[in-house]
Amino acid sequence: MARQVNFEKLIVPGVRGLQPYVPGKPIEEVEREYGISDSIKLASNENPLGPSPRALAAIRDGLDTLGQYPDGNGHYLKEALAAHHHTRPDAITLGNGSNEILVLLAEAFLGPGVAAVYDQYSFVVYRLAVQATGAEARVAPSRSAQHAQPLGHDLDAMRSLVDADTRIVFIANPNNPTGTWCDEDELRAFVSGVPADTIVVVDEAYAEYVSGDGYPRVAAWLDEFPNLVVTRTFSKIYGLAGLRIGYAISHPAVAEILNRVRQPFNVNSLAQRAALAALQDTAHIDESRSVNAQGLGFLSAGLADLGFRVLPSVGNFVLVDMGTAAAPFCEALLRVGIIVRPVANYGLPNHLRISVGLPAQNRRLLDALRAIYGAENSAG
Ligand SMILES: *Cc1c(COP(=O)(O)O)cnc(C)c1O
Repeated sequence: MARQVNFEKLIVPGVRGLQPYVPGKPIEEVEREYGISDSIKLASNENPLGPSPRALAAIRDGLDTLGQYPDGNGHYLKEALAAHHHTRPDAITLGNGSNEILVLLAEAFLGPGVAAVYDQYSFVVYRLAVQATGAEARVAPSRSAQHAQPLGHDLDAMRSLVDADTRIVFIANPNNPTGTWCDEDELRAFVSGVPADTIVVVDEAYAEYVSGDGYPRVAAWLDEFPNLVVTRTFSKIYGLAGLRIGYAISHPAVAEILNRVRQPFNVNSLAQRAALAALQDTAHIDESRSVNAQGLGFLSAGLADLGFRVLPSVGNFVLVDMGTAAAPFCEALLRVGIIVRPVANYGLPNHLRISVGLPAQNRRLLDALRAIYGAENSAG
């Protein structure tokens, strides 16, 4: 007879309570499940234009080198990123997505007996990363739905949870899933106000989409605040989500510590090449930004016309309050081949997060919602 093993009993305490991250469904899976084709995915905040053609060419050029390990130091990419951010290469840490950077930070600085602070409706990976280490998670209540930054970060509430045991505060700016943001003055006041040995992680995954005054790109503050860590990604505006590459900008001493916990070859060679090329293709970035700005305006206005409450967003997605349970809308959209993101796992069962697509995709979403909404209303 086979042995019985209770693996649950063997897990370390931090991991025991974890639930696996549920990603947006891949297109292929939805098409199989619903027997449809020609579907569109507006669920994972990807760039609808895809990667820069120059990044794709760099990947093709790199295929011959796949027999060799990648550059474990990411030399060329770090040099380029340092120049891009007016800093030094040893301030950069490369990650297998910025998700890995967040996990490395937690691994290096968190554990039982210390605490981390994040906002109620912030990026779900903070919760997962903190919980796995066994550190205490202190969750600050978000701003109200009526605030100018609805459901956004309340930095005063976050500050009040910081004490001598707090090793990390996670701030997403702009935030996912809300699309809200913190302005320069409030963020600077927050960073000045926390103890110097509390690390403030500012996750700028969508920074390249933000235009306009008052939005801070805080890597420029590092000389003043060595406890700041900025994370960035190639998954969003750069359109390289499938390759998994992101990075941190930090004090070199923090980078050196992250270097101790990361795997020696955590970022693959094609990702490094593609990122380097993508960084230099400013025309593609500009186009991506402008397609997004137009689509964001079009979607927000269209959704508001349909009577839904759309939260103001500076990212490449909008959070929409459906006014009632969002799951049936999600399901009805799936039936016509449109994948959007339910956010019940964030504690927002009445909201949907919708990524900005290409113009025709945005129109298709609005048309489908109009049809569904009409049907729902006439059904009573
Ligand atoms: C998408 C996203 C990331 C990026 O994740 P990667 O691991 O770099 O793909 C990080 N933070 C937030 C808030 C995001 O929405």
